[in-house]
Amino acid sequence: MRKPFVAGNWKMNMDGRSSVDLAKRLASESVGIADQKVTVAICPPFVYLQAVVKALDGSSIAVGAQDSYFEPNGAFTGEISIPMLKDIGCTYCLCGHSERRHVIGETDELINQKVTSAINGGLLPILCVGELLNEREASKTEEVVTRHVKEGLAGLSAEKVSAVTIAYEPVWAIGTGLTATPQQAQEVHDFIRKLLAQMYDEQLAQEIRIQYGGSVKPGNAAELMSQKDVDGLLVGGASLKADDFLAIIKAAV
Ligand code: PEP
Repeated sequence: MRKPFVAGNWKMNMDGRSSVDLAKRLASESVGIADQKVTVAICPPFVYLQAVVKALDGSSIAVGAQDSYFEPNGAFTGEISIPMLKDIGCTYCLCGHSERRHVIGETDELINQKVTSAINGGLLPILCVGELLNEREASKTEEVVTRHVKEGLAGLSAEKVSAVTIAYEPVWAIGTGLTATPQQAQEVHDFIRKLLAQMYDEQLAQEIRIQYGGSVKPGNAAELMSQKDVDGLLVGGASLKADDFLAIIKAAV
């Protein structure tokens, strides 16, 4: 019922030429898979978004931004707004990625403003949630994920929330080579779906896609995707290599 959704987060990597080369290879080698069987998006750095949108012209791979600001315009030096992202052809926007939460210091309140402005501005937010290692060890995973989901979606109606994808990304698994076991991922995804049912209704909870992210590789993608509530993957490091990302897309079908 939920179409698999694989997104690649390039983080602060690549240059102009390698961005375009990678995008073109993904477009040509995912024909017949992307869109028909799996939703695919890539999230390059801001400065390469336009070039990547152009390189993907005519393909079914969508483009997302890694971040945005919640005001549409004005005196916010260095920030990029949702209308700007929409103007250049973006479809998605990551909100609250753990590196923005823990390196840049974004709060749940700011992330909620970003999710809200993305939806109101016509972009589809991917809300990233997940616990730190010490929080998992202190059995606080559910508490942290509950806070991230409830505060990230605060004030939004069920209709608006239907535009959101949730990405469960345990912080201890991001870029570390450690992956949550498929069972650990399933437990948290199931928990998030039940939480959404409580917050909204069962139908919405069943419709929302929940991606797993954290050291996803070609070798573990299929097993993670085999879990009932794992509807897709948010891929960092492995999305920078065409062969690996294509293998992950195929494993998600
Ligand atoms: C990410 O950037 O969201 C991520 C999950 O990174 P990695 O796949 O490298 O762990």
